[in-house]
Amino acid sequence: MVTASLVAATVTDPELPMLTLADLGVLRSVSEEDGRVVVAITPTYTGCPAMDTMRDDLEHALVGAGYADVEIRTQLSPSWSSDWITSEGRRKLAEAGIAPPGAAPRRSGPIPLTLSAPVSAVPCPLCGSADTEEQSRFGATACKALRRCRSCQEPFEHVKEI
Ligand SMILES: [Zn+2]
Repeated sequence: MVTASLVAATVTDPELPMLTLADLGVLRSVSEEDGRVVVAITPTYTGCPAMDTMRDDLEHALVGAGYADVEIRTQLSPSWSSDWITSEGRRKLAEAGIAPPGAAPRRSGPIPLTLSAPVSAVPCPLCGSADTEEQSRFGATACKALRRCRSCQEPFEHVKEI
C-alpha cells in the first residue's frame, strides 16, 4: 500500500494542474491518527473556489488508494504565501509558460514609506525578456495576472505574489 503522504503528494491543483498541492505548498501535513488519515491544507487565496475541488481530489485519491477514513483539515494560520511554491513547482510553471511569482511582499517589519506596490519585473517565461507589461490583474483565475511581453509580443500568465 502506498503511504498516505505519497498519495496526497500526487494530487494536483485544479487551477494550476501542472503543480501538485505539495509543489504549491498547500499540502501542510499528512498524518495517521488511529487508522484515520488526517491531511492539513492551507488555502492559497482567500475564498479560492478551488479549495472544495482540492479537498474532494485529496479525499478521492486517498480513498482510492485504500484509506477508508480520511479527514481533510483546513489550516488557516500561518496564511499561505506564494513563497511556499517549491523550486520544483517554479520550474514546472516556467516550463508551462507561466511566470512564477517573485518574492512575496513582507507582512511584518517596518511600515513602508510609500503605499504604492513596488514594481517588480516579471521576466517573460518564453524568451526571458524583462520588458513585460501587465494587461489584466486577473487572468483566467484570480491567482494569475495576464501579462504581455514587449519583446516577443506573446501574452503569458503570471502567478501573483501574495
Ligand atoms: Zn517574450
